[in-house]
Amino acid sequence: MPKKHLTTKRYIHGHDWRGNNAAFTCPVCRKVFIVSQFFDKNGRKCPECKKSTAYCTGGPGKGQAFIEWE
Ligand SMILES: [Zn+2]
Repeated sequence: MPKKHLTTKRYIHGHDWRGNNAAFTCPVCRKVFIVSQFFDKNGRKCPECKKSTAYCTGGPGKGQAFIEWE
């Protein structure tokens, strides 16, 4: 599955990452949705198409945030 990581050095347009929350634009259907480390321990599927899953563990600089899709 393709996978895209957010980094603190290069913000990708359509995404954001602050604290233990990250916002992604679904690469499949373009829906914008957020994922929280505390509420979505096993990642969060795109609420629109369910074909991508975003993960956030920790904040920028000490964690990782990424999305993978079919
Ligand atoms: Zn989607």
